Amino acid sequence: MNLVFLGPPGSGKGTQAQKLVEKFKLAHLSTGDVFREAIKGQTELGKEIKGFVEQGKLVPDELVSAVVFEKLRSIAAKKPFLLDGYPRTVDQAKDLDRFSEKEKIRIDAIINFAVAADELIKRLSARRSCPACKEVFNLVTRPPKRKGVCDKCDGPLIQRADDTEEVVKERLLVYDAQTAPILDYYQGRNNFVSVDASNPISQVFLDVLFQLKALGLPPL
Ligand SMILES: [Zn+2]
Repeated sequence: MNLVFLGPPGSGKGTQAQKLVEKFKLAHLSTGDVFREAIKGQTELGKEIKGFVEQGKLVPDELVSAVVFEKLRSIAAKKPFLLDGYPRTVDQAKDLDRFSEKEKIRIDAIINFAVAADELIKRLSARRSCPACKEVFNLVTRPPKRKGVCDKCDGPLIQRADDTEEVVKERLLVYDAQTAPILDYYQGRNNFVSVDASNPISQVFLDVLFQLKALGLPPL
């Protein structure tokens, strides 16, 4: 059972990915991790990516695809996988289709985690971070035990510039501009499903399992 997860920052798809990976013993491929691994391992592709990242430039689609596929090839033979954070653009989605056909690696389900924009803004702008130990809290879903103080190291919590309402709105606009077309691209496929990710974590997880079951997944 190979899965693709789509969803904006704040949709909770990372949490759902962890739960699913655990339940079905999937390999969890997050694009961020794959990038870091390639850079650290100093592979050819890793060196190229490092160049873009160091200059603060966006990594081009074909390079993103190449590094994800390099990892998928090595993993798909051994273990079913969950792809998280890829594809991010329609061109990447097309790359994935071509790869899947050529390598006979089937994508069994594409799951979209849908949350209304105002709910995402509420969730993301409620984040508070500890600059000292990097722990992240959320005033709504994971408040610190004492107001404004880190549970782990007692340091003062701050709101990162990334998490202010203004910047969050901007990030979501960018995400929407790139990703809304992907949803159109996948719409109508029988392995594409959408879950309402504004519900509580446990409810969303049940919905995901239900949707997978409706697709006959995981196969017996
Ligand atoms: Zn701390």
